[in-house]
Amino acid sequence: MPAPQCASCNKARAALRRPRSGQALCGACFCATFEAEVLHTVVAGRLLPPGAVVAVGASGGKDSTVLAHVLRELAPRLDISLHLVAVDEGIGGYRDAALAAVRRQAARWELPLTVVAYADLFGGWTMDAVARSTAGSGRSRSCCTFCGVLRRRALEEGARLVGATHVVTGHNADDMAETVLMNFLRGDAGRLARGGGLGSPGEGGALPRCRPLQLASQKEVVLYAHFRRLDYFSEECVYAPEAFRGHARDLLKMLEAARPSAVLDLVHSAERLALAPAARPPPPGACSRCGALASRALCQACALLDGLNRGRPRLAIGKGRRGLDEEGPPREPQLSRPPTSQPVPDF
Ligand code: SF4
Ligand code: ZN
Repeated sequence: MPAPQCASCNKARAALRRPRSGQALCGACFCATFEAEVLHTVVAGRLLPPGAVVAVGASGGKDSTVLAHVLRELAPRLDISLHLVAVDEGIGGYRDAALAAVRRQAARWELPLTVVAYADLFGGWTMDAVARSTAGSGRSRSCCTFCGVLRRRALEEGARLVGATHVVTGHNADDMAETVLMNFLRGDAGRLARGGGLGSPGEGGALPRCRPLQLASQKEVVLYAHFRRLDYFSEECVYAPEAFRGHARDLLKMLEAARPSAVLDLVHSAERLALAPAARPPPPGACSRCGALASRALCQACALLDGLNRGRPRLAIGKGRRGLDEEGPPREPQLSRPPTSQPVPDF
């Protein structure tokens, strides 16, 4: 049976059905629709004001590649300028290849690129060194705990270095739904209540952060990369397989098979959760060492580095069981959802 006509242009043959709506579209109309939906997310959420200098967290992977490409397409309409910021965590055999993909993207799209390295920012610590130091203490899980905290700090430092006013990351709807699930599984009500929204407003001197792809499904991110013929790096980090997030991902796949709207339902459920006043954590203060937002004397990054430098990484991880995130979202107040007078993307 021949493919149906594209439901948008009614000229070309459809090349795909949108995973959630079933709408049949040709590749060009799908990409234009995807870009329009990201534009709507940014404009309705007031995520990136005109004149913003935007640091795009670039990892070379599919999400940040699609994000950089879409924002580059939208930049004239949004009146923003872009700067790719890549973080070299120091993971041998993995990050070098991913950074090569980022360099190719920067050259092809004529975007400025700055690479910041853990080793330079954190007193010589690389993720490989952290892994060696934490070996025997649940290494892989620990690695992602350390890495998530340090990468957030490194991206902030890189963004400041290039004079950015805003930071964007490539988290998609599936990433966010996994995070919501992980927070449910850990019983972390405080983080659940803070985990919604499209970004954080940048309190405590931090740059405002947002996730323009947060309402886009992973499948459509992959489809966009396919139809735009984007060159990205798709190998998994050597420390990823044992991470807790993998269990949430498996669970989410099962839920999605039974209920296709499960991903967006989870994302929206986090937006609507409210904490009882008695359960609200105290407002964060400033880290006594670096001045970043902190709910204790030291911020997460300084506490982790402190433990590593004392040769007691387990101590730092132990603190993490109570106070540190494990690949979770930022512990910051969230921007509210955009007004929903326009339809939410139907995928
Ligand atoms: Fe870092 Fe874990 Fe991601 Fe690897 S999988 S880059 S260790 S957060
Ligand atoms: Zn600090």
